[in-house]
Amino acid sequence: MEMTMAQTTAAVKKALLGAGFVTNNLSVKRGRRTAAFWVYISLDMPRHSQCSCGEPDEYGRRETCENCKNAWRFVYKVVNAIALKASGRDAINYDHQNITIQLGFSN
Ligand SMILES: [Zn+2]
Repeated sequence: MEMTMAQTTAAVKKALLGAGFVTNNLSVKRGRRTAAFWVYISLDMPRHSQCSCGEPDEYGRRETCENCKNAWRFVYKVVNAIALKASGRDAINYDHQNITIQLGFSN
């Protein structure tokens, strides 16, 4: 049975919370109008415990260290896999999965 978008976003959020993303400022929303089929996931994660990221420059940008890059890639993949499964979109073509993940660092 096809899920409504409200059911889809609720299922994705529940699955991510269930997977432990409870202190990550998690937000799961649907798009509007022509983007109505899109799922927008936003969350953040702490930097790696052995972090050597650069100091913020005058614009607040920081060079990301290898440990944090690897941790980020891992979390991104996990979030994507959970979202695909929970939404049932793992069964459809990539071009139509329409899930975006905004993953930032909380520190
Ligand atoms: Zn780092």
